Amino acid sequence: MSNLDDLKRDLVRANRILSNEGIVDAWGHISVRNPDNPDTYILSRSRSPGLVTMDDLVEFNLDNSPVTPTDTPLYIERPIHGMTYQARPDVQSVIHHHCQEILPFAVTGCEMQPAIHTARAIGGQIPVWDITDNFGDTDFLVTTNDQGHDLCGALGDSKAVIMRAHGATVAGASIANAVNIALAMKRNAIAILDGLKLGPIKYLTQGQIDFVNESGVRTLAGHDRAWEYLCQQAGVTDI
Ligand SMILES: [Zn+2]
Repeated sequence: MSNLDDLKRDLVRANRILSNEGIVDAWGHISVRNPDNPDTYILSRSRSPGLVTMDDLVEFNLDNSPVTPTDTPLYIERPIHGMTYQARPDVQSVIHHHCQEILPFAVTGCEMQPAIHTARAIGGQIPVWDITDNFGDTDFLVTTNDQGHDLCGALGDSKAVIMRAHGATVAGASIANAVNIALAMKRNAIAILDGLKLGPIKYLTQGQIDFVNESGVRTLAGHDRAWEYLCQQAGVTDI
């Protein structure tokens, strides 16, 4: 079995994990850059992530056209994926979601900062992008490459971007890393929103974020341990 086959299995697992963890529901998606051809990426056809199988995976060019023309329905927001891979050569996996716990930040424009130690995966303040700024009144969906390009401008070098009135996009160094960032954002959001009922939030300082992130061995071990746990919880260990 090739590395690409292994990666596709992890992509299917990640779809199920994100559904099991409440990051995605009927909507939302995760992709991975093709390690054999960095100018393409793998993404499911239009299906709810919790139902995605190996047979649903489609390869896309970075302009978001399918490598092999198909009549099967495709996600209309795939410009998020291709344009992120174009803008960020370091990114190997992209998640787009409408996670409920993130939405308070999306409706207020409040930039998220890490407040709990596991949110070090966020890496710092998460910017907010408003499609209205350059595209006026829309349905808020990112359906054109111009919109995807504009989104990436707000993403910059960050690990994620919150999308006003919509959701968020995560840019990961791997599938497991992207899933970890999405989960960290959700847990961080819950801690902040619950914490505000008690008093002001004491956020991590940049020094504290950097200190944790410099311990690369611990971070890597944490990813592996978390991935094993998440696969078990989602029942996808044997895929
Ligand atoms: Zn969306």
